[in-house]
Amino acid sequence: MLTTRRQALKTLTAAALGSTALGRFPVLAETSAPAPAATAPAPTGPYKLPPLPYAYDALEPSIDAETMHLHHDKHHKAYVTKLNEALAKEPSFTPPADVDDLVKNLDAVPESIRPAVRNQGGGHANHSLFWQTLSHKSSAPGGEFAKALTDDVGGLDKLKAEMAEQGGKLFGSGWVWLVLDGGKKLTIITLPNQDSPLTEGHYPLFGIDVWEHAYYLKYHNVRADYITAIWNVVDWDFISQRYSAAMKG
Ligand code: MN
Repeated sequence: MLTTRRQALKTLTAAALGSTALGRFPVLAETSAPAPAATAPAPTGPYKLPPLPYAYDALEPSIDAETMHLHHDKHHKAYVTKLNEALAKEPSFTPPADVDDLVKNLDAVPESIRPAVRNQGGGHANHSLFWQTLSHKSSAPGGEFAKALTDDVGGLDKLKAEMAEQGGKLFGSGWVWLVLDGGKKLTIITLPNQDSPLTEGHYPLFGIDVWEHAYYLKYHNVRADYITAIWNVVDWDFISQRYSAAMKG
């Protein structure tokens, strides 16, 4: 017992000396910064609800303020909370800082929490992008994106018609997406629930959330009217820039 403890102390001392030899302590002394906590546990989990990038009533009348409050403050927040709760059950798994990387590599997530991470992590990733793709500013598809939209989809009117049709037909809850596919072509797809295009090997540019919580307060059961109205508040500048960045990357 004693011998074992002495041995352990020796090992610890050797490790500390090793650190000194590697120059960690002198660096800390120079900057006089406090030593970083080695493994500070994060009891509330690693993911946070991002604030809306505009006022809750910014998208009125196309999307009403009450829907935005519920959608962001309740629904999106719940995805983040439940994602963190799921991850807390597998502390040996270290999730990446960016939730996009988490849903892109679902296979890396322990099986016991993978379904929860698929749903809640997908919900967090999808909504984080959704808020950024909307704006009250008027804009139009620009640059390389506008050209690709014509070449790959047949233009903006075709995109609207196709997303309306696919979004209308989607049974139950899900999203209709404009994505870059593996060959970097613009493609329109639907995915159920909160499945992320990233999990499927696609790069999402713009998604229309067709869960009832996204439109029911204002549009009731008429999903088609919500899909028609959302085009009034799409931030094409953001989407055009996201497209260009993805094509370079
Ligand atoms: Mn939603």
